[in-house]
Order: sequence, then structure tokens, then C-alpha cells
Amino acid sequence: MSVPNEPTFRESVDLMFNRAVDIMDLPPGLEEKIRVCNSTYTVRFGVRLRGKVQTFVGYRSVHSEHMEPVKGGIRYALGVNQDEVEALAALMTYKCALVETPFGGSKGGLCIDPRQYEEHELELITRRFTYELAKRDLISPSQNVPAPDMGTGEREMAWMADQYARMNTSEINARACVTGKPLHAGGIAGRVEATGRGIQYALREFFRHPEDIAMSGLTGTLDGKRIIVQGLGNVGYHAAKFLCGEDNSVITGIVEWDGALVNPKGLDVEAVRQWIIDNGGVKGYKDAEYVEDGSKVLELDCDILIPAALEGVINLSNAARIKAPLIIEAANGPITAGADDILNDKGCVIIPDMYANAGGVTVSYFEWVKNLSHIRFGRMQRRQEESRHQLVVDELERLDRYLGDAWSMTPDFKSQYLRGADELELVRSGLDDTMRIAYQAMREVWHSRDDVPNLRMAAYLVAIGRVAQSYQAKGI
Ligand code: GLU
Repeated sequence: MSVPNEPTFRESVDLMFNRAVDIMDLPPGLEEKIRVCNSTYTVRFGVRLRGKVQTFVGYRSVHSEHMEPVKGGIRYALGVNQDEVEALAALMTYKCALVETPFGGSKGGLCIDPRQYEEHELELITRRFTYELAKRDLISPSQNVPAPDMGTGEREMAWMADQYARMNTSEINARACVTGKPLHAGGIAGRVEATGRGIQYALREFFRHPEDIAMSGLTGTLDGKRIIVQGLGNVGYHAAKFLCGEDNSVITGIVEWDGALVNPKGLDVEAVRQWIIDNGGVKGYKDAEYVEDGSKVLELDCDILIPAALEGVINLSNAARIKAPLIIEAANGPITAGADDILNDKGCVIIPDMYANAGGVTVSYFEWVKNLSHIRFGRMQRRQEESRHQLVVDELERLDRYLGDAWSMTPDFKSQYLRGADELELVRSGLDDTMRIAYQAMREVWHSRDDVPNLRMAAYLVAIGRVAQSYQAKGI
């Protein structure tokens, strides 16, 4: 999606990068080395389907190998092209640096509309694509570790992992060749929800800083905040579900490909999601006003706007009319560079994509570590933790008996305190910590330098600084 005079997605990423390096003091030439994409592999392969050979075009781009393996999703969409894949790979480099996952940046894509194919056909296509990439080390536990992205999920990752394992029968770490796998195939608890969960943790952290809340003109907490979500896919759905279910925010608008739903009293996220699964879109859903031109709903009054679908949806053609004082970019690149300027001038606070949607790759990192260590998180500690807690509870119970009516344990304390952390709890704790620390790194730069006007610029500065340090340490 672009309008005349609008930079492309890739140009937008480069523009934002350039603005950041302009105020950095990098050794000559290093900025160019960091900005360019190291390599992009294009593959055209044939698969025999429905009685004839069909040719597919796929890409895997490696943006930066300052750390290996390189990491990033593989998307299945008709619009996939080299420029898009390269821009997304660059964002992966910066994202991984910002949230301190020890990876370089990569991204892949296949030009395909997955809805046009049966499951067994998609499996054939995915296995063949995997074969082409694995042959060139573009899927490998130590070199390049894909993950889900738009149009792919656990199912595709399981096929990829299995295909890789078949091609590398003696590779003990074969499962670590992709992340986002189902739990029974080497995945990790909490990966599916991770990006949406990361959005929630990012917003919670934002609302812990009164100075930052004031910059947006908002007040208070997430409680009661009116949120419009664009795209109720995996990321948008989980973010919306957690924010209204656990933080008491109100989802007043949901924008989908076939229109939008609006209800100032709040939409039932679960019911809308089910409606979309059953009917293919939002049209016809009862408990809301249906707006055919969904893009208009992005412009409605709300407290927080969450674009969680495609890139470029907020651009020169609509930025001036966007009313949300706070936007969190759950998608990659939903705001073009031109729109970014307009929104910043209006005083809108934007929590940038490279930070906001980093929950996915963060939990991917945990999954990769789990695969390499061949043990579930919490397996060694859980019961030991419980028995130590039991000691405390035994003592408290003794005190309880001794003090009689003067003191007693709060009803749920015992069961809650006794329970040792399982994998899901540990994953959430690691994700929460990651999102908090990365936000604090950004805001420190944002508030301590006069030449850093917003969080996006701060995010680029932190990320590029870390990548630069890594290149310098390697002697390039
Ligand atoms: N595709 C996701 C992203 O854009 C996840 C990448 C990963 O887990 O490697 O961040």
C-alpha cells in the first residue's frame, strides 16, 4: 500500500536508519556496512500439483551476520518481493540488537496465497522450499533460523523442522533449525501468543513512566483505555485479548480486510475472532456497527491504536487524520517515514515496531536455547523450588497455630506460593523482563539527548550502536 511521493517500505527503513546514523559518531564507512543487506537468495522451484508443475518464487535475505545464527520469519503472501524481504531482514537485525537476542537479521518469503491450496499441497510446497534453503545453509541451527510470520505458523514450522531433520540425519540439534514449532515437535510454551503478549508488556512498561504518558497527553493506566486494533490475526488477536482480559482496556474498534467493527462499549474479542474463523471476515457480526471502509476506523477517536497487519497502512494519505495519541506498531513498518513525520509533529507518541513486536523473536530465542539444551525450562528446578517454599509454609503454619486468631495466612497464599514455576511462567517472566529492559534503554536515550525527538530514533540509536560495537569487536 503506497501513495504517490511516498517512500517504499524499504526506503522508509533506510530513511529512518539514515536519520539515526546522522547523529551518531560511527567510524567512516561502518554505517554503510551496517545498512546494506549482505545477501538475498532468490529461488524458483517447481512442485507438481493438480496434474501440472507449478513454479514458485521464494527469498531468504540475510541482512547482517554480526552475530550468528541470523534470525527472522518466513512469510507466505502474494505481495512478497525482494525489497520487502530485505527491509524486513534489516528490521530483524535492529530488533534483535534492541532486545538483546544474540542473532543477526534475516527474513524470508514465498510468493503464494496460502488460502488457494489444500493442506497437503502446502506441505509439499513448504518441504520443497525448505530443501532449497537448507541446501544453502539458509536454514540451519547454527547459521540461519527461520520462524513464523504472516501466512505461516506452527504447522509450517513443523514441516520445515522435519524436512531439515530428514536431510541431516545425524545433526543432534536439528530441531533448533526453526522456531515457532508446535510444543510436541520441539516448540516452547507461550510462543504462539508471544508477539501479542509482548505488545501488552510494552504498553504496561510505557504506562509505568509518568513522563512518557504525559508526552502522549494521556493519563492514568491501561484501565479503561479505548483501543482500536487493525488486523485480528495472531498478533492483533492476542494483544487485544490480553489487554482487555487482563488490563481492563476496551477494544472499541477492530479493522479487518473486509471492513471494520466499532462498538464504543467494547467488542468481545473472542466472539469476533470466532466470527472471522467461521465467516472469513467481520461482515455480518451482530454486536457492533459495521463500517465497510475499514481504513476510516483507523481515524476514529481512541486512546491507543494498534496496527497489527500490513506495512504502510498509515501513510501520507491518512496520517494527518489519525487521532490516536499513542500508536504501538505491532506489525512491521505500518507507518511510512512520511506519516511518521506528520504524526510526530502532531505530538503522537509511537512505540516503534522494532521494539513493540519483538516478543516473537524473544520467545523464539528461548525456544532455540531449549532445543540446544534438550531440556524443558523448569524441569530441574521446579520441585526443588516447591520443597523450599514448603519449608516456609510449614513455618508459617506453625506460627498460625501459635498465634491463634491474631494471625492467619491469606486463603490463596499457600497454593500460590507453593507452586514452582513451569515453562510458560518462565517464558512470560523472561519476555516481560526483556520488554522492560529494552524500553528503558530506549527511553533513556530519548530523554537524555535533545537531538532524539522520539522513541523510534532512540530505538535505532540503541540498536545500531550495539551492532556497530559488535562489528568493531570483530575487527571490521
Ligand atoms: N516473524 C517474527 C518477526 O518479525 C518472528 C521472528 C523470529 O521469531 O525469528 O519478528
